[in-house]
Amino acid sequence: MLEEQKRKLRITFAGGAGSVTGANFLVEDVLSDGTVNFSFLVDCGLIQNSSHADPANWRTWPYDAKKVDVLLVTHAHTDHIGRIPRLLYEGFQGKIISTHPTKDLADVMLEDTIHIMSHDHGHHIEKMYTEENKKKALSYWTSYEYHQRFNISEDITAEFYDSGHILGSAMIKIYFGNSTILFTGDLGNSPSPLLPDTEKVEGVDYMVMESVYGDRNHEDRDERRKKLEEVIENNYTNKGTLVIPTFSLERTQELLFEINSFVEGNRIPKMPIYVDSPLAIRVTDVFEKNIKYFKEDVKDQILKGDNIFSFTGLRETLATEESKHILKTQNPKIIISASGMSTGGRVIHHEKNYLPGKENTLLITGYQSAGSLGRKLEEGAKSVFIMREEVPVHAKIEKIKGYSGHKDSDHLLEFVDGMVDTLKSVYVVMGETKASLRLVQRIREYLGIRAFSPEENEVLEIDFYKTKTK
Ligand SMILES: [Zn+2]
Repeated sequence: MLEEQKRKLRITFAGGAGSVTGANFLVEDVLSDGTVNFSFLVDCGLIQNSSHADPANWRTWPYDAKKVDVLLVTHAHTDHIGRIPRLLYEGFQGKIISTHPTKDLADVMLEDTIHIMSHDHGHHIEKMYTEENKKKALSYWTSYEYHQRFNISEDITAEFYDSGHILGSAMIKIYFGNSTILFTGDLGNSPSPLLPDTEKVEGVDYMVMESVYGDRNHEDRDERRKKLEEVIENNYTNKGTLVIPTFSLERTQELLFEINSFVEGNRIPKMPIYVDSPLAIRVTDVFEKNIKYFKEDVKDQILKGDNIFSFTGLRETLATEESKHILKTQNPKIIISASGMSTGGRVIHHEKNYLPGKENTLLITGYQSAGSLGRKLEEGAKSVFIMREEVPVHAKIEKIKGYSGHKDSDHLLEFVDGMVDTLKSVYVVMGETKASLRLVQRIREYLGIRAFSPEENEVLEIDFYKTKTK
């Protein structure tokens, strides 16, 4: 006999609501008597504002880590996976599920987070961020291909769609009862130099979507290539050092790919180009192992024998001594280094050395969060504090917006528009409040779809019916 069971899917916006970083969404399958049948998380990221790890990371979670059954991971950026060690420390013993490349990248990214956090104390950080917890996380980890639908519980299944944001990045479509909900993770700024375009997803009823650039548009790709070439040429003429603070994951590889094409096409003058980030070097290795996830024309280029991340003049500096030696080398030169928002890493040493020189240039290529050193430089600060020392800024500050890994406002809207026939509600998260609210307003006004921007720890419930054999 068939029985119709009334259930609720309850979503708690535990992180990434009202802020770009710290993505963490709890989803519970609640029975009609109010008991929780099953629960899973989507992402467990670090909150990263002006520092690598904001104190807000250690606030009590609105859930018990021991009772969470599954963690689904959209992609390997630290603001989506960086609190996994805390989850394990608090007793999580469930499965972690992502695409194959995300698992490979998470290994490298978590290693780096542990390395950075090992210098922090308090809040039991030193007990969370251990090599042992990383190993445990990887032992819990299962990976699937895009479009390989899998069960996360008896009644709920999921499927990964390529979001085109970074290698392995996925939107996660959840099927429950007769409804679906899509967690977008971060949405790629397609066309990307390396990755396929964001896939079209059909039959989505509810959506939890990112909005980093909900209120702004980017320069287009031809513009950004032209600007990059121009900045490199000007640096050569000025006999300066061009410092590019950049994200180790994806942005560095995109830049190497673009510079590779400039060098091989003899479009820029010869000068040494340093990749001064051990993490970026390791991530590039993972990219080289996962070329089947690149877009078709990049795969063709590789098949023809081009090593797309390597060219004459490129120097990778793994050891600290090699990094320090860069200062003694002659201009003109280029230094690509992390972190991307100048919140730490080797790049701040280069900034301290090169910002005072008017012959030098600092090139910002991505989103800079409020309060970060990168944001201060982007906003034209005349002097900044680096490692407690006041540093005058005489170097030129240049910006290329088009290198962002995120869709801009118009493309986010276009993405929502592609699902307009089935969408019932859109929950706009992972953006600064102003950006999220602007996107909410645009979705309502232009597309006539219900849209909301939930606050942190806000809870929403979606009714659904499950047919069961009695
Ligand atoms: Zn991301």
